[in-house]
Amino acid sequence: MYNDLYSAQEIAQLALLSCNVREFPVNVTQLCEHYGIAAESGTPHGELVGISFIYKGLPVIFVNEQEPTPRRRFISAHEMGHVMLGHVGAWQYSDDSRGMPHKSQEQEAMIYAAELLMPECVLIALGITDVPEIMRTCGVNYSTAFRTAKSIERRIRRGDPPTNVEKALIRQFLNREEQQTDEQKRRSTRIPA
Ligand SMILES: [Zn+2]
Repeated sequence: MYNDLYSAQEIAQLALLSCNVREFPVNVTQLCEHYGIAAESGTPHGELVGISFIYKGLPVIFVNEQEPTPRRRFISAHEMGHVMLGHVGAWQYSDDSRGMPHKSQEQEAMIYAAELLMPECVLIALGITDVPEIMRTCGVNYSTAFRTAKSIERRIRRGDPPTNVEKALIRQFLNREEQQTDEQKRRSTRIPA
């Protein structure tokens, strides 16, 4: 699934595009289903928060269900990232308190997870750029939303135009917004009997 031509951020954008995701909060379980990744949760021994591995030839992600929901969502997206970016193969990826040996792959999985849950180009297009709004819209915790808000700020300052993939993703989300607006209009003009 991994392609050296694309960055972790673009791979997340392509996943949102091909799964036709148009609304927040992004449903990570559905995305995993689409790619044939089994998403499991439970209460492990020790301090394990998340892990991704191959079982009988199939990718599996496991998340500690005792983590608060916003954090669990990010961990799921992060573990999905390890699978989608081709990190999971001969060895297991366990994200626990002891830290990780492959720092660059950890960073890639973080970038993937952030973009999957909070695609920056879409948030900018919708005007969702401050921390509380990002938290509410994307179902993430404060520190996660804070990092994205800062990154959005930097991007706006640089004035980076959207890539072609980003343009397509923005259209996908905006169409949804327009549909909702039309629906709202219909509802508000409906005359009660
Ligand atoms: Zn990891």
